[in-house]
This record gives sequence, C-alpha cells and structure tokens, in this order.
Amino acid sequence: MVRIGDIADGMTRGVEGFAASVSETFMEPVVRLGVTGLSRAGKTVFITSLVANLMERGRMPQLRAAASGAIQSAYLRPQPDNTVPRFDYESHLAAMVGSSPHWPDSTRAVSELRLSMRVRPGGFGGLLGAVTGPRTVHLDIVDYPGEWLLDLALLEKSYTAWSRETLARMEERPGSAAFRAALEGVDPAVPLDEPQAQRLAAAFTAYLRTAREAGFSDCTPGRFLLPGDLAGSPALTFAPLPDPSGSTPRGSLWREMDRRYEAYKAEVVKPFFREHFARIDRQVVLVDALGAIHAGPRAVEDLRRAMTEILGAFRPGRNAWLTSLLLGRRVEKILFAATKADHVHHTQHPRLTAIMQALMKDARRRADFAGAETSAMAIAALRATVEETRSQGGESYDCVRGTLLGTGREAALYPGDLPEDPALLLEPARDGAEAWLDAEYEVMRFAPARLTLKPGEGPPHIRLDKAAEFLIGDRLT
Ligand code: GDP
Repeated sequence: MVRIGDIADGMTRGVEGFAASVSETFMEPVVRLGVTGLSRAGKTVFITSLVANLMERGRMPQLRAAASGAIQSAYLRPQPDNTVPRFDYESHLAAMVGSSPHWPDSTRAVSELRLSMRVRPGGFGGLLGAVTGPRTVHLDIVDYPGEWLLDLALLEKSYTAWSRETLARMEERPGSAAFRAALEGVDPAVPLDEPQAQRLAAAFTAYLRTAREAGFSDCTPGRFLLPGDLAGSPALTFAPLPDPSGSTPRGSLWREMDRRYEAYKAEVVKPFFREHFARIDRQVVLVDALGAIHAGPRAVEDLRRAMTEILGAFRPGRNAWLTSLLLGRRVEKILFAATKADHVHHTQHPRLTAIMQALMKDARRRADFAGAETSAMAIAALRATVEETRSQGGESYDCVRGTLLGTGREAALYPGDLPEDPALLLEPARDGAEAWLDAEYEVMRFAPARLTLKPGEGPPHIRLDKAAEFLIGDRLT
C-alpha cells in the first residue's frame, strides 16, 4: 500500500533532486556511487583502495581518464551530508599500507566520503574545455551494508508471513537449536513480558550470527547483525513466533512482536531507503563468491538467492513503496564484483567471473533493469598474494603465496580448480547438495603484504581500474 505521506515525501525529494541536478549539470557534477555487499564482502577495503588509487593513479591504466591524464588531481573534500558518518579513509589506509599492515575494521553502518577530481575535458568536450578550463567532478561514495538492502523484502511481508518463512528456513541452517528451545512452551497469547522478549530476540540474533558465520547470506532483519546505534531498542527486540492457535489480545506477546516488526519496517528500513538508497546513481555490489564456494553448496545457493533479492531492490516496479519513492529515478550502472580474486591464480579469474555472471543471470532474467547497465567481474581491491607455479608428482599447480593471517607464516596455497562450467557449482547448490561431489575449494586468509609504494602509485590491486572505468569512467571524459 502506498501512503499519502510516502508520496508527499517522494515529491519533495523529486523537486529537490531536480533542482540539484540542474545546478550540478551546469556547475560541478556529482556522481553518487553506492558500495554494498554482505558483511565481510570487502566494502571497506574496496573503498579505501579505490580512493587511494584515484588520488595516486599510477596503477589505473584501464581507467581511461587516468591513463590519458584527463584527471589532473583528486582530493578529499567535506561531504555534502552533515549527519552521515564520514568513511574513515585515513585510518583504513594507514592499517592497510602501514609498517605492520593489517585489515581495517569492517563496515558496520552507512558512511560517506567525497572525493573531488579536477578533470580536463577531452575529445569534443576539449573544444569547450579550451574555453571553460578543467571542471570539478565530485564522487560521493556511500558505503552501506548489503544486509540492509535485503530488508526491502520485509516491506511486503506481514509479521505472520515473515515468521512462518523464517522458522521454516531455520530448519536447513545451523545454529537454531537454542532459539527453538527458547520458543518451546512460549504462548503468544499471554501478555508480553519484556525480559522474555529480550531473551527471544537475543537467541534469534545469536542464530542469525551463527548462520552468517556458516556462510549463509540472507540473515534478515539486517539490523540484527549490524544494529548501529539501534542496539537494544524495541524496534530490534522481536523474533519470529509460531502461528498462534487462538486469539491474541492487545498487549499479548504476539501483538507486541507484530507491532515492533512493523516499527522496524517503518522507522528503520524505510528511512534508509529514502535517505540513502534513493539517491544513488551508480552501484557496486561486492560478493565474496570464493568464500561461499568454500563454505559449500548450501552457502552458494543462499548467496544466489540473496543476490536475487539484492538485485530486486534495483528493479523498478518490484516494490510499490520504493517505486513511489524513486519517481522514475534509477541507478544507471550496477557492477557485481567477486572480491578477493587474489586468493586464486589469474588463470582462474575468467572462471570466477563466469560464476558471478551465472549467479546474476537468474536474477537478471527476471529483472527488468530498465536501462541500468550491468557487468560482472573478478577483482581484488588489495592484492595480498603473489602467484607461483609449483610442481608435485609430475603435475604443476598454479598457486598463490602470501602471509597467513594469524600465524604470520608464508604459505603457498593451491585453492583447487574452479569448474569451467559454473553449472557444476550452481546445480548441486540448487538441488540442495550437502557437499561438493568431487572437488574441494580452499580459502586461506592472508594478511596484507608489506608495501613500498613509489610516488604516484596507489596500493596494488586486481582490476580495480577496470571496475572504476565501468562505474564512473563516462563521467570523467
Ligand atoms: P566489509 O565488511 O564488506 O567492509 O569487508 P572488509 O572490506 O572489511 O573485508 C573483509 C575481509 O575480507 C578483510 O578483513 C580481508 O580479510 C578480506 N579482504 C577484503 N578485500 C580483500 C582483497 O582484495 N584481498 C584479500 N586477500 N582479502 C581481502
């Protein structure tokens, strides 16, 4: 249902948006780049390395505006939104390239960073450029957890439907025993007892966390895992309940949980979409596909479903409320990037890309992106390994070598060959296989390598320049 308030909100936004885009076109254009992905997909590392490599462009040959010298300078500027936390670029970069390199703290909530670039117009624009000189393009990067996007599906679900679905899904996943035990003997018709509600919410959150750690992707409600400053608030103190057998009077556990679930949707999910999502022009969705493959077929199937859900958020018309909010505005380009590609030898990268494309295909077939251009690639925002070929028993193996996280030991890893045909992974996943039949995929966690960066060079990466070219290249020429 679309409420009048939502429409009115959308209209004001539309008018403001129009005014903003007019002044931006003539003055200083702004590109809002959304960076999302599930927790630990690599968002923080991606943004840090992207910004560092746009400031020092020596490793960005595939970004045409960098290679041609059209980008004359790039510098950080105060961001336009005063109430959104700033992405802590300096600390994250210091962690990654300092004297004892380590991975930065991951994304926990939404944050923003403005990188401004002085760009000399090229080609036809160059004629104009001779008159007008270089212009400034602002890149506003908005980092937000993919878990929050998955919450869009909740808007269309009643508490009853959500409870049923969530309880059914629990059966195929690890970690739900304690929550199910906590549910036993709970009568949804009795008056709400706050400590009991808190116990149920805590047990439910613990289950979501275990499922996430076991590699499952769709662990909504998103704020249960990444609560930001909402931890402990009533909007996060609910849990699914089995269908009540009789009536549920006002003030009962069921009614109160239902009310909180609705409050979560109205007061947490909707503002996120209104304030952040609705303003994005370009989007990158980061996916730890290798991590899911390592976790097994169920995690891969879950990832496929989560990607379909995430893609659904970009499909106009899918959700009436969102459609009214966007007023025809849409994301122009969406990149799906498999991260941490430095965990496998480059000979495997085309296969990893093919897996990403196959994961996307299903969702894309059903989705009408109405003009959004999409692409899939395999990247590493910060390359932590080097490649090496080892021979053993007359066979040669394409390995990657790096420093292991934890022990600090150097190790070479042969991660296993990804199949040439992605169906060999996706079909058993869809059929509910427990384990891969005749293959094992290893993933080790490497620490960032110690770096000596030459002047003009950003941190080493794989295809970050290609990703940047797809996402923003056209706005820099
Ligand atoms: P976020 O939760 O999406 O912000 O994820 P992070 O950016 O914090 O990344 C999570 C973890 O993935 C890091 O701590 C690293 O261990 C790993 N990681 C991320 N990007 C890369 C990469 O390019 N190469 C390698 N080897 N590991 C990465």
